[in-house]
Amino acid sequence: MIEAFPSGPFATNAYVVYCPNTKVAAIIDPAPESAENLFAYLDEKKLHLEKIILTHSHWDHFGDLKKVHDKFPVPIYIHPKDRENVISPGSDGLPLFIPITGMKPDKQLKEGDEVQIGELIFEVLHTPGHSPGGICLYSKKHSILMSGDTLFKGSIGNLSFPTAEPDKMWNSLDRLALLPADTQVYPGHGEMTYIKNEPWLKDAKKFFN
Ligand SMILES: [Zn+2]
Ligand SMILES: [Zn+2]
Repeated sequence: MIEAFPSGPFATNAYVVYCPNTKVAAIIDPAPESAENLFAYLDEKKLHLEKIILTHSHWDHFGDLKKVHDKFPVPIYIHPKDRENVISPGSDGLPLFIPITGMKPDKQLKEGDEVQIGELIFEVLHTPGHSPGGICLYSKKHSILMSGDTLFKGSIGNLSFPTAEPDKMWNSLDRLALLPADTQVYPGHGEMTYIKNEPWLKDAKKFFN
């Protein structure tokens, strides 16, 4: 149902999330150098790609967006507060290590919206802090959280970037700390974890401030 493809200079996790019953799929964060592996996986599993979702607009999360969209011209989803940097990569003040082509997202995702991937339903949690339009996708039914760069195994997203708002990050992490303990967490970098394995979450401010 969820396959990770760590790609590009920061081993950013590009994900394919798919519904086993309908074979409908979404790509989350088409990281640099991820496209070929994503295409091979979609093909191998005979999946039907329906959308591309960005957890936020740091370039390491959408370096291959154009490549993927050229092959599969499906709607691109992002929170409105992170939209601009997808259109003009680098406008967020983060230095680009590689050339990235700007793209126009088609759809916006906001707090409380529902994202459907076949029979899977994810709720959008707006989790600013690392980036103003950062989101997590949460499926209560399947106990899955796609956490972007808000929460990693044992850590959190960088708060020294120009896009960071530390005060908002503590609130966002407090919200994630309240999710059920068995929730599986699939982050933007590194291995998956569980909410119960991150007991520091509720005191994140103390550890990371
Ligand atoms: Zn980021
Ligand atoms: Zn990242």
